[in-house]
Amino acid sequence: MLRQLLASSLLILCTIKSVLGDSPSLQSILGNDDLEVYFPGQPGYQNASRAFNLRLNFKPVAVAYPNSTDQVAELVKVGALLNIPVTARSGGHSYAGYGLGGANGHLVVDLTQINAISVDNSTGVATIGTGNRLGDIAIALFNQAGRALPHGTCPLIGIGGHASFGGYGFTSRQWGLTLDNVVGATVVLANGTIVEASASQYPDLFWALRGAGPSFGIVTQFQFTTYVAPAQPTFFSYYWSLPLDQAITGISLYQNFSFSSSIPKEIGFEMDLTKGSSEGEILLNLVGSYYGSPDQYSAVVQPFLDAMTAPAQVNVTSWLDNLVLLAGSAIASTPQSIAAENNTFYAKSLTTPSDAPMSQEAITALASWMSVEGWYTDTNWFVQLELYGGNSSQIDTIPSNATAYFNRHDLWTIQFYTSSADAEPPFPREGFAFLDGLVASITANEPESYNYGAYPNYVDPRLPPNEWHALYFGSNFERLQQIKTEVDPTGVFTFPQSM
Ligand SMILES: Cc1cc2nc3c(=O)[nH]c(=O)nc-3n(C[C@H](O)[C@H](O)[C@H](O)COP(=O)(O)OP(=O)(O)OC[C@H]3O[C@@H](n4cnc5c(N)ncnc54)[C@H](O)[C@@H]3O)c2cc1C
Repeated sequence: MLRQLLASSLLILCTIKSVLGDSPSLQSILGNDDLEVYFPGQPGYQNASRAFNLRLNFKPVAVAYPNSTDQVAELVKVGALLNIPVTARSGGHSYAGYGLGGANGHLVVDLTQINAISVDNSTGVATIGTGNRLGDIAIALFNQAGRALPHGTCPLIGIGGHASFGGYGFTSRQWGLTLDNVVGATVVLANGTIVEASASQYPDLFWALRGAGPSFGIVTQFQFTTYVAPAQPTFFSYYWSLPLDQAITGISLYQNFSFSSSIPKEIGFEMDLTKGSSEGEILLNLVGSYYGSPDQYSAVVQPFLDAMTAPAQVNVTSWLDNLVLLAGSAIASTPQSIAAENNTFYAKSLTTPSDAPMSQEAITALASWMSVEGWYTDTNWFVQLELYGGNSSQIDTIPSNATAYFNRHDLWTIQFYTSSADAEPPFPREGFAFLDGLVASITANEPESYNYGAYPNYVDPRLPPNEWHALYFGSNFERLQQIKTEVDPTGVFTFPQSM
């Protein structure tokens, strides 16, 4: 079926080419009144082509704002016709500027105008246009039907990238990643055909979309399973600024707590680490939410707090107010909030296995690097130990080959992040060495058999191919390559870390 569709669309492409002649210009094809599009040199182009990460600067051949799946399909056909790589952009929050293609010369298809959200009240399935951002989605799902999705805490992330490569938030231990809740997708393929992918239709494509989607097509809408929004979530945040030896103890206790068989799936948390308040100190922040009954909250966290007393902020609120607390800001997007959110940064990640704790040597080396190098560096930085696994986590119940998203059996995803001190360019070059040192402090102190992965939504453009193939996709990589040759044989959807 998929092959037949591809063949008939090739015919249409050839017809367009013969009508237009051999080398029509992009501007002559796209420059019509129905489509909002910006070309280099035009007013609006600079803003349309600005990366969220100001460390990066890419020049697309055009940035188009289609308002329907049909218009997306036309854009993809034009890109294929002219041999121009085509790139979808949803919220534009890719760490590596992949929403602009991660290189010069892409035709960027910005999905902002495809932003409908509806919930089927009988099934709870939500249909969400991929021009939407997480905060707006949360508000719409809750206001329309009292429902919710698992997703990250930053409200301005786009659903397109987030659901393509993962989608982790504090409800993920009970509801899974965002992509685990995708039950259908409307997809524009490389030849411009439009298909509905699901477990029963185009199952290979559907498998690939959930973990590596941008290599295979442009999704214009997703259908998601949703959940009744928790009635009274408990937000919590505890702080400690500790000298090195106590910080090492704190991180070790946190690891024990992460492994504890007493934590229910209704709790989600991470420990954030950054520069402390005095020389050599490290600031530890345990932050998260509990979605069970508020009167049971204390019993869940008390075993950790018995060992580590701390100043606390604990708030029982409504679902949407909980999201505001986690975001640290309003969650509805506005042109002002979008414009104000940029940063100049670089990040890496490591996932750690759920069957082997990080060694004391690695914890000590990591904490020492943060305490010494971290105190003297001029960059801003943080390290996050995000709990993906642990007792009864939903993420962990799904086999690694069930979706293209591979890293299922992990305790933590660790994010290492550094940015310029004022969030503006230039990015300080020492930031790379500082971050490489943080990662090496762990990897140099574990045996070679220690089973790392990395999180594709914290995409690291400096990873060499053999590393990102293995760290992001493990043994799923081969099947993804195979599907790529069937679905996009000429590489219309090509970017630095595409299949
Ligand atoms: C401030 C900040 C906070 C974050 N917090 C979290 C968090 O809490 N949890 C978490 O899991 N992640 C988090 N992330 C990472 C985030 O999930 C990824 O950066 C995500 O890929 C961004 O999606 P986007 O649509 O905004 O980005 P974009 O740059 O628009 O897209 C990212 C990639 O997806 C592709 N793509 C986008 N839309 C589509 C589509 N419709 N069809 C096909 N391909 C598409 C793009 O081409 C690009 O390759 C955070 C990122 C930032 C910047």
